Amino acid sequence: MLCVQQNRNVHKLKIASDSQYTIDIMTKNAREWMDKGFSRVKNPESTRALIGEILKSRALIMVRKVKGHSGDMGNDGADALANTGSEKDTPDTIDVSAGETVADLGAKANSLSQSNAYHLIKDRSHSGERRRTERMISNTRATITAITGTDHPPSKIWSTLRKRKKGVLTQKFSAFAWKSLHEGHKVGDFWKHINPDRHKCQQCNVPVENLEHIFTECRVSGQETVWALAKKAWGQTGLPWPEISLGLILGIGTMDIKNDQGKTLDGRTRLFRILISESAYLIWLLRCEWRIGREQNVLNMHTVAEITARWKVAIGRRLRLDWALTNKMAFGKKALRTAEVKRTWKDIYSAKNQSVLSDFSSEDEGVLVGTGGNATQLRPPGRNR
Ligand SMILES: [Zn+2]
Repeated sequence: MLCVQQNRNVHKLKIASDSQYTIDIMTKNAREWMDKGFSRVKNPESTRALIGEILKSRALIMVRKVKGHSGDMGNDGADALANTGSEKDTPDTIDVSAGETVADLGAKANSLSQSNAYHLIKDRSHSGERRRTERMISNTRATITAITGTDHPPSKIWSTLRKRKKGVLTQKFSAFAWKSLHEGHKVGDFWKHINPDRHKCQQCNVPVENLEHIFTECRVSGQETVWALAKKAWGQTGLPWPEISLGLILGIGTMDIKNDQGKTLDGRTRLFRILISESAYLIWLLRCEWRIGREQNVLNMHTVAEITARWKVAIGRRLRLDWALTNKMAFGKKALRTAEVKRTWKDIYSAKNQSVLSDFSSEDEGVLVGTGGNATQLRPPGRNR
């Protein structure tokens, strides 16, 4: 873990370890544990911290298994250091604060943790990292203010990712957004001095493939198709659709949908946050598949039909999850209120097929057509209206 901490801004990090257990944490178990919590994990504090450091790191991290005590120079050296370390009178203190955020991002059971991601960021010593984070946060904040007229402090933006209230933002999206706010993804200027080919978006012929490009302009990230689908779905509510920007996506947890009287509409707010966060996360997945899995092969681009199917699966899954979460027998006090879930999905699901998402087409008689709804203060200018 120290190795990851001390090399935050390198591009590639090769770690050799003789512990299959540690390697499994990094390669296999991290996601599951973040989803299910760390209650059955050995050394939960340091395990979480290790995962947190990896999430925060900008480096491409590769892990290799070596045999212990077998003459591998690095490994024997590490053993020697460990022995020296264990003989010290006062043990070295290791910063495990990154783990607190992992705990917060992860299982709901851990949502009571006192620490708060914002303070974690504020206290961090690396100024370059902090500057990047501050820039991302202030952009996000400014965007949300421009759209809603409400200014939220950075702590609010962080806490929406941390608390994930009422099951609106998924753990995966929150982790993605959290890392984005740290400019921790290997996109855009990360590649500037390493690999000019990965710095630019070849297909769009733009010099920098950054998150803004991926989400709002790119021709190969699927963003155009995905946002069109989201806009169409939202159109059923009769409410205006905003211009999509990176700030809107990262600050989505603070976006409220209000009626003419300024009253927050809980169901519509949930739906809006679900549509934006799920759509954004799908675009991110498509982009990564295209850049990495499909090696930017033009013959292997995601088709509109493929993207559409993926989007419907993603939203349909959320719809079913919402209904599942209303089960009081299973979730007790944490269960979602049925009425609120109904208000969330009103107008955009097919009554005929129950939980299956409709095509939003007027031919489908099962679709509940929007009644026009109330105007809201969500009325930004922009090309996506
Ligand atoms: Zn592009």
